[in-house]
Amino acid sequence: MGLEAKLTSDGFITTTIDAVIAWARKNSVWPMPMGISCCAIEMMAVADPKYDLARFGSEVMRFSPRQSDLMIVAGTVTYKMSKVVRKIYDQMPDPKWVIAMGACTSTGGMYRTYSVVQGIDQFLPVDVYTAGCPPRPENLINALMEIQDIISKTRGRDFQDKPLLEMGFSKQ
Ligand code: SF4
Repeated sequence: MGLEAKLTSDGFITTTIDAVIAWARKNSVWPMPMGISCCAIEMMAVADPKYDLARFGSEVMRFSPRQSDLMIVAGTVTYKMSKVVRKIYDQMPDPKWVIAMGACTSTGGMYRTYSVVQGIDQFLPVDVYTAGCPPRPENLINALMEIQDIISKTRGRDFQDKPLLEMGFSKQ
């Protein structure tokens, strides 16, 4: 016997289209795992049975940017690599979000050197930063929950006809 046994007549719920879209969107975030160095090991751990990212609807890690809406940048980003990371980000469809995972990604970490980008927000719009070297899997899950919180406050029309500014042209 389940809930349906209690429903003796047609019922209804009230909500808004925006709330339904945001609810669906935040519970089906598909990550693009941009694992560049050691932080990536902890990122992989969140998908295992112990941490079980599937609880949040985000276990579907996609290695194609066109099927992803969350880029998790995990690791030390060199200037040489930054162009690749940006290009993959540009290939992701809108709406999309970014997590900077770990000290290196957020600030350059211990690598105060000419070859390492001192924070990926120099070339990417970061939504959530995650502290740690490396961050624990729980910390990354917390970052995902923060992304879900951001998404839950969006409206469906927020992303309509968004101009493709980063590609150097906009819709006329
Ligand atoms: S923050 Fe630490 S664990 Fe993460 S990539 Fe940098 S050195 Fe490696």
